[in-house]
Amino acid sequence: MKSYTSDPSCLSRINHLLNSEKHLDRIIGALCTLDMDCFDSMIEDMQRCNNVSKHEFYCQLTRFFDSTKKDGDRFFRVYSAQCENASCNKCGIRFFVFVADFTNNYIGIKFYLEGDKVTSFAECGSIRCPVAMKSESKKLFFSVNPF
Ligand SMILES: [Zn+2]
Repeated sequence: MKSYTSDPSCLSRINHLLNSEKHLDRIIGALCTLDMDCFDSMIEDMQRCNNVSKHEFYCQLTRFFDSTKKDGDRFFRVYSAQCENASCNKCGIRFFVFVADFTNNYIGIKFYLEGDKVTSFAECGSIRCPVAMKSESKKLFFSVNPF
């Protein structure tokens, strides 16, 4: 049994996302679980993730999930967001902020879509979502040296 089951409302939201017909919903739900295996199955046919090879991304993601869980977080809450960087705001890109349940630390991620299919995604440091951000929270990145 996964630890995020201790918050029924969040579990129900995550399960709803994981069972959605939309690829974007499923990939967002999988990221919220902090579960490597769950997320892995959602990105099977992507060649690159976060602008690196998939192999390199798996290393990033393993470290990212591990350190997030070590801080006491069990899952992410997700919020729709905007990016302040004009070059990010292109057609087919959607922005979300993922907020860790215990620390309120957050990561901004942009998803590239073709129709209903997510073709790639990447962290972005310019994504803003005031409702998600608390003063004590810090920004997270998949990569050790982002940008
Ligand atoms: Zn951006």
